[in-house]
Amino acid sequence: MHTPLIDLRQIRKAYGGDDSPLVEVLRGIDLSIHAGEFVAIVGASGSGKSTLMNILGCLDRPTSGEYLFAGENVAQLDSDELAWLRREAFGFVFQGYHLIPSGSAQENVEMPAIYAGTPAAERHARAHALLERLGLGTRTGNRPHQLSGGQQQRVSIARALMNGGHIILADEPTGALDSHSGAEVMSLLDELADQGHVVILITHDREVAQRAKRIIEIRDGLIISDSAEHACAPPAANPGALQAVDLRQRLSNGSSQTGAWKGELLDAVQAAWRVMWINRFRTALTLLGIVIGVASVVVMLAVGEGSKRQVMAQMGAFGSNIIYLSGSAPNPRTPEGIITLDDVAELSTLPQVERIMPVNGSTAGVRFGNADHSSYVGGNDTNFPQIFNWPVIQGSYFTQADEDSAAAVAVIGTKVRDKLLKDVADPIGQYILIENVPFQILGVLAEKGASSGDSDSDNRIAVPYSAASTRLFGSRNPQYVVIAAKDARKVKDAEQAIEQAMLRRHHGKKDFELTNNAAMIQAEARTQGTLSLMLGAIAAISLLVGGIGVMNIMLMTVRERTREIGIRMATGARQRDILRQFLTEALMLSVVGGIAGIGLALLVGGVLLLSGVAIAFQALAVIGAFACALVTGVIFGFMPARKAARLDPVTALTSE
Ligand code: ADP
Ligand code: MG
Repeated sequence: MHTPLIDLRQIRKAYGGDDSPLVEVLRGIDLSIHAGEFVAIVGASGSGKSTLMNILGCLDRPTSGEYLFAGENVAQLDSDELAWLRREAFGFVFQGYHLIPSGSAQENVEMPAIYAGTPAAERHARAHALLERLGLGTRTGNRPHQLSGGQQQRVSIARALMNGGHIILADEPTGALDSHSGAEVMSLLDELADQGHVVILITHDREVAQRAKRIIEIRDGLIISDSAEHACAPPAANPGALQAVDLRQRLSNGSSQTGAWKGELLDAVQAAWRVMWINRFRTALTLLGIVIGVASVVVMLAVGEGSKRQVMAQMGAFGSNIIYLSGSAPNPRTPEGIITLDDVAELSTLPQVERIMPVNGSTAGVRFGNADHSSYVGGNDTNFPQIFNWPVIQGSYFTQADEDSAAAVAVIGTKVRDKLLKDVADPIGQYILIENVPFQILGVLAEKGASSGDSDSDNRIAVPYSAASTRLFGSRNPQYVVIAAKDARKVKDAEQAIEQAMLRRHHGKKDFELTNNAAMIQAEARTQGTLSLMLGAIAAISLLVGGIGVMNIMLMTVRERTREIGIRMATGARQRDILRQFLTEALMLSVVGGIAGIGLALLVGGVLLLSGVAIAFQALAVIGAFACALVTGVIFGFMPARKAARLDPVTALTSE
C-alpha cells in the first residue's frame, strides 16, 4: 500500500494552561489522506475544524501526537522546511480570503512564486493565466477592496494554485459568499479535484460537504465518522498529483533553495513604498528626526568648511613664509617691549631672513574734498609690494628716494579709492588729507580681497615709513615688523633664529612676540577640528532621535500589518524573507529621510550662500551623513523586523 500523503496519529491540541483554563480542542485525531483525494471535514462551529486545518497546513503545531507528511515527521522539520511545505505543497483558501489589501489581484497571486524564486516573466505570465482561467482576466490590477467577495475568493484560489497547489486546504471557502458565488467556488474546487489536486474542504454545511468523495465528521475534537472507512482501497493517484516518494526527495533539497532576491527585493521595495505613501503624513512627521539630522550635519559642515577656507585664503594671500614680530609684555604687570629700527637692522643680517619691513601704522581719518573715510594707514618701506606679494594696478609704488626724503606720498587700496575718489577719473596725482596732512597719491594697490575673501584688506593706505613717523604718528619705532623667511618650508627655523637674536639684544627679556601665517593656519585648523567634533556630536544625537523615529514607525507598521505577515507566511515566506522585507522598509524610510535631509541642506545652503555666508559643501560630509542615516535605519529597524519575522504564522494570521 502507498504511504499516505498525510498521516495524523493521535493529534491533540490544547489551548490555555497556566493562568487561563486549559481547553482541549482536538482530542486524539487519527486520519490519513492519500494523493488524489477530495475530502470534506464537517462539523458544527467550534468543533475544532479550523484548528485541525491549521495543523494540517503546518501553520500550527499540535500539542501532542504525530503528523507524518509523505512519511516525514513534521515535528522534525525546521522553520525553513515548514515554509517550503506551505509554499510548494499547500495552497490555502480561507473564509475571509486573506488577501493583502495594499496589493493588486495580480500581486497577491504572484506572492507565493516570489518566495519560491520564480523568474519575474514566468511569474507574471502564470499569475495572469490563472486569473484568466478563474474569470478575472480583466481584474488583475484591482485591489481587494475593488473586488466582490466571490472575486476575492477566486483570487485567493488562484494564489493557492500559483506554485502548483498540490493540496488545497479550503476553510469554509463559501462561508462568506452568496449562494451563486459559493456555487461557483465549489465547482472550481470540484474541477481541481478532478485534475488531481488533493482538496481538503472544511465546512459546517452538510450540503456543501456532499460534493466531496469522502466525508469526515468531527465533533468536539474527535472524528465521529469517516466515509472512507467503509470504502475499499484509496483511489489511484491521478497523473500529475503529488507523490509521497517524489515529495520527500524534493523536500530535502527544496527547503535550502533561496528565493529570487531581485523579485523579493522589488516586492519589498514596492510594498514599503506603498505603506509609506498611504501613511505619508505620519511618515513625514516621524522622519523629521533623520531629515533634520542629515540636513544640520551637511549645512554645519559646509559653513565650517566655508569659513575655514576663507580664513586660510586670507592668511595665504599674504604669503605662508611671513613672520610677524611685535612687542609684548613678558608678564601682565610689565609694559610691552619696544622694537627699534636697530633691532630691524640687525635681524636683516640673519641668513634665514629674505626681507624685513617695519610697519608703523594705525587707523586714521582720511579726507578727499568733502568726503571723509576711516582707513588703516601703514608707514612701511619699499619692501611692501614684494613682501606682501601685492602689486599696484595703477600708478607706481613710492621709491627709496621718497623714503629717504620722508615725502608725503601715498599708495591707496581699492576700497579707499572706491570710497573717496569714486568720481575722479584718475586718482593719480590727487591729494588726500590723512589726519589733516596732505599726501599725494602715487598709485593704487591691486585688489587683495578678491583672493583673500576679506575686503577689509583693501581699506589700506601705504605711505613711506619715514613720512609716517615724522608727519603722522610721532614715534620712530615700528608697531610691528613683517619678516619674509627665505625658505617657506623652514619658517620655524627662521623664527627660532629671530628669537635668539632678539633675546640677545633685549638682554634675555622676552618682551616680544613672534607669529607666523603657517602657525595661524594650523591653529585655525585645530579650532575647526574641535568644531567638527561638536558638530559630530550634534549629528549623532539627531540621528539617534531619527533612529528612534524609524523604530517607532516600524513597530507601528508591524503591529498594523500582523495579519499581512501571517498571510505572507501562509503563502510560504521564510522568517528571513519577513526579516528582509521589514529591514528593507526601514532602509527605505532612511533613504527617503536621507534624501530629504540632503535636499533641505542644499536649500538652506543656497539661501545662506545668497545672503553672503561663505559655504562649501563637501561630498564626503553629504555621503557620510547619508550613510549614517542608512546605518541608523538598519540598526533601529532590526528589532521590529525581527519581531515580525518571529511571529507564529497562525497567531499572525488570526490577529485583528
Ligand atoms: P471551528 O473551525 O470548527 O469552528 P475552531 O478550530 O476555530 O473551530 O475552534 C475550536 C475551539 O478552539 C473553539 O472553542 C475555540 O474557542 C477554541 N480556540 C481556537 N483558537 C483558540 C486559541 N488561540 N486560544 C484558545 N482557544 C481557541
Ligand atoms: Mg473555523
